[in-house]
Amino acid sequence: MKRLTSFAACFLLIFCHALLLHPRETQTNITYRLSWDQPNSHLLNIAMEIDNPPGDSLHVSIPAWRPGRYIIQNYTKNVINFRVFDEAGQSLSSEKIDKDTWRIPISETNTVVVKYDYYARHLDGGSSYLDDSEAYINPITCLTYIPGKELLPVSLTIDKPADWNVATALKFDADVNAYVSPNYYELADAPILISPSFELLAFQTQGAMFEIALQGEANYQKDKLIEDIRKIVEEQIRVMQDVPFERYLFMYHFVPYRFGHGVEHKNSTSIVLGPPDFDDKKFYRGFLGVTSHEFFHAWNVERIRPETIYLPDYSKENYTTTLWTYEGMTSYYGHLTLVRTHLVKRKKYFESWANIIKRFQNSYGRKVSSVAMVSWDSWTKSMGHAPPNTYYSFYMKGNILGMMLDLEIRHRTENTKTLDDVMRYLNETYAKEDRGVPEDGLQKAIEQVADSDFEAFFADHVYGTAEIDYNRYLQYAGLELVTKPDEKSPNVYLGISLSRDEKETTITNVKPESAAFEAGLDIEDVLLAIDGTRAHTQNIDVLLKQYAPGDIIRITVFRRGKLRHFDVKLAEAPPDKYEIKELQEPTELQLLIRKTWMNEEEEAEEKEVEE
Ligand SMILES: [Zn+2]
Repeated sequence: MKRLTSFAACFLLIFCHALLLHPRETQTNITYRLSWDQPNSHLLNIAMEIDNPPGDSLHVSIPAWRPGRYIIQNYTKNVINFRVFDEAGQSLSSEKIDKDTWRIPISETNTVVVKYDYYARHLDGGSSYLDDSEAYINPITCLTYIPGKELLPVSLTIDKPADWNVATALKFDADVNAYVSPNYYELADAPILISPSFELLAFQTQGAMFEIALQGEANYQKDKLIEDIRKIVEEQIRVMQDVPFERYLFMYHFVPYRFGHGVEHKNSTSIVLGPPDFDDKKFYRGFLGVTSHEFFHAWNVERIRPETIYLPDYSKENYTTTLWTYEGMTSYYGHLTLVRTHLVKRKKYFESWANIIKRFQNSYGRKVSSVAMVSWDSWTKSMGHAPPNTYYSFYMKGNILGMMLDLEIRHRTENTKTLDDVMRYLNETYAKEDRGVPEDGLQKAIEQVADSDFEAFFADHVYGTAEIDYNRYLQYAGLELVTKPDEKSPNVYLGISLSRDEKETTITNVKPESAAFEAGLDIEDVLLAIDGTRAHTQNIDVLLKQYAPGDIIRITVFRRGKLRHFDVKLAEAPPDKYEIKELQEPTELQLLIRKTWMNEEEEAEEKEVEE
């Protein structure tokens, strides 16, 4: 090894020192520019400029999925006309090396400019959309990143018509005339609405600014909207005892067709709903419900985050058994917030619980798949994309588990601890410490807060498929679930679901263990007759009402073009009416749990002025 002269050694020291003091001078600098010139082409023109690119060979990728929807989405399919240039505008070569990634060999260039067009013509909470009325950008769907360099700071310039405005949670830095983000993760997490027509409302509370951007026509009353969203915000901040942002943006799109979708982000949410009718109580409950759900995500999943997606790998599936806690328990708090703030009345709250429990009990998949597995498999299975009778929504069971856990904790601790304490514990222990929650983190947190063992609960209901004894939990709050047969329905049960086409009614599902299943009826059989009488989706209940449990009926179908007959021994119809009622003589503890759980007292006082 050649010896350095003392001069050279000294020079090297000074140079290294200078590098340490001014690391940014040679740091990779990433800026994006977004523009469009022909809105009805739906093409966004995107440029990514990389100063001082890392290494000799640069990789750029488009994410394959987005947090919030745990399936591979392949956004790269919308990328066309991919080109690369150096700082002088000379073309550089590039090579696509997998479905989402381009490799750009670089030498003797200080700057690489990647340019491409992105076809943006899908409008939901998590997509990107361009027409002559707006540009709606979810950066995660359309902005390239450098794998492994997601933590570098980035900035974004938007070339837009002068009279179009921007709504986003991203910070605008007037000094550089661009939106700036400390890293790609936060840029990817901030949707941007650019339009000449959205309305912007705002309010302040708890030291933070809340903005409401509304795109599309709708008959909302501004003051009421602000006041009701403020109630949701203040209640959830009361639960979490934490305001983790200075500014938060509620972004709404109203569309003229039936639609509902919301996506959570760290400092904003984007919600698409339609058709809007703010005079319709059901629509308004839905509006408040999705708003409440998405806002609670600002903690639960955005900050209290599974370890495995804490810093997500956008190139592939990121598995976890815990999505039920992040979605289901967010649904639980979404609903609970509305009853606690009296935006929804207790009666409606009970009705919605009865409905959720009924739907879950009617899904055969609950007997087959644990909610931990349903969470894990979300990447490959979803509603309608899994074998029938094997799956259910982890939102639904997670919501039910949220209620069960809350009431169980309250009961075991004589109402001195609640699920609210658990959420605060998770926030303090993980979110505030900048780390993800391990797979068993929720169970550990509950056991810590309640000072009690929840091993059996998790084994039965999270990792297992045990039947739920709803009344065990509801009774803790002085409530009970009552089920009974629906007098309007036949008192016999077949176990099939039917298509809605009266002219050609097909069997869309045969529930395992049911009378129809045991007799051999199959999915896609075309229903023709019951005991020789033409049967279809509209008259089947009328026909079945003539029979009693134990009767044997002959069902005639076409199966793959052949006439077939099946003799079915009818079973007794299971109870179809679900109701949640208050116990007549609750104990003091039951009453205390119910009142504090739902913030009941104030509602009693308000009752006289309500409808
Ligand atoms: Zn959600």
